[in-house]
Amino acid sequence: MQTFDLIVIGGGPGGYPLAARMARQGKKVAIVDNEAEFGGTCLNWGCIPTKALLASAGNFHLLKHAGEFGLSCADAGFDWAKIIERKNNITLQLRQGIIKMLEKAGVTLFKGIARLYKDRVVKVSGYDEPLHSEKICLAVGSVPAAPAVFPTNRDIFWTSNEALHADAVPESLLVVGGGVIGIELGQVFAEFGCKVCIVEMMPQILPGLDNATAKRLMPVFKKSGMEIMTGKKVDSLCEKNGRALATIDGVEREFAKVLIAVGRRVNMSFMHETDVHIETERGLIKTGSDYQTTEPGVYAIGDAIKGPMLAHKASYDAMILAAQWQGKTVVADYSLVPSCVYTHPEIAWVGQSEDTLKANGVSYKTGRSLFSANGKALTAGAGDGQIKTLIADDGKLLGAVIWGPEASNIINEATMLAQFGITDHDFSMMIHPHPTLSEAFMEAVENASGSGVHG
Ligand code: NAD
Repeated sequence: MQTFDLIVIGGGPGGYPLAARMARQGKKVAIVDNEAEFGGTCLNWGCIPTKALLASAGNFHLLKHAGEFGLSCADAGFDWAKIIERKNNITLQLRQGIIKMLEKAGVTLFKGIARLYKDRVVKVSGYDEPLHSEKICLAVGSVPAAPAVFPTNRDIFWTSNEALHADAVPESLLVVGGGVIGIELGQVFAEFGCKVCIVEMMPQILPGLDNATAKRLMPVFKKSGMEIMTGKKVDSLCEKNGRALATIDGVEREFAKVLIAVGRRVNMSFMHETDVHIETERGLIKTGSDYQTTEPGVYAIGDAIKGPMLAHKASYDAMILAAQWQGKTVVADYSLVPSCVYTHPEIAWVGQSEDTLKANGVSYKTGRSLFSANGKALTAGAGDGQIKTLIADDGKLLGAVIWGPEASNIINEATMLAQFGITDHDFSMMIHPHPTLSEAFMEAVENASGSGVHG
């Protein structure tokens, strides 16, 4: 039996930073994942491949609208196979980088599927000798949830995994679920000429986004070529002559493909046919504030536990757990985990939403600024969008929502203000370079107290 101080199961954005941090502190650390899965869902099946496709889609959009910049591009076209190849090369490059980084940090890599047994024994497929460790961390991530009521022929009824490896742009696509995956991937296919129809059962798209912004974005997304239905259900789905037949709100429609994007569930394969029992709560691995599961010495982080299923939240968990193991008194606080949607335009939000503040009777001031009044946005041809800030009576930021260019970068200013309790007055003393998109955020903060130059 090989022994370690720590075995990390899962090489995603939760697992690999934890393994590297602990190895650099002199611990004997092993990490287990399939060779093609290092980097996790984020790198191989989620954030990065989607962003690569969105970048191709965004640039194709620019080519089609070159005339707006005084440019001509008579023959804008695309090669889907090359778009997929580019995406694959990016993920491969990043995956190899992570593997090299782990090796350099002194982590022992096991390439296979791990099964966890009682008393912290781990067996890895392809390796004869079992492993044992003082501590084990389950950084096992999540997989697409595909409810049993939906057909399982993955040639037609895709999850995000199949959509990211599509060999062609389908003529039409039904997207079940108007969450982040549905909207991001829907937009990619719509940009390349696919007739996309998104059906969301809740009254608004993008759960967690404030209601007013979600409503405001509906015409924006419709303009980008997507048909979006909210408050509607797909009553039935079946296969007919190699196509998908769907009944949506009582109306029968046919599609070439269907993307099922109704959320994700924890990947529990580590305890498939083993003798260990790790308790779950509403489908998530139960952990305390020390990240320990119901099995002593076994910890869990990332998508597998409470909190948003986001790569940066998993890395945050890894950082907090490593600090706790170093003896620091820190606990996770998920109140300021930024959410980002990488569509065109981008959407990002952090902290409390206006809906929550109203529901809780919290007193706040609202500040706004429009990208149409921001020089950098207009010169970039990205004047659509706005920023909303929610500021407490003491001048501290409670939350912010941005839709428009580089929203996913600008949101960091909001997170920093809220995290460190910086008041709107102190923030207005910070010099923002001109012309930048970040000036629009400063305007939105100043606007809340009426001190903004542009009103
Ligand atoms: P989600 O939870 O964001 O959205 C799923 C949507 O499907 C919800 O709006 C839900 O109401 C709807 N839905 C559920 N069942 C339905 C049905 N039968 N008919 C119609 N609508 C239905 O889930 P997702 O979009 O699958 O994403 C999964 C996870 O991955 C999320 O936690 C998300 O945050 C994360 N993710 C993040 C990013 C990003 O950060 N940019 C990108 C992709 C995924």
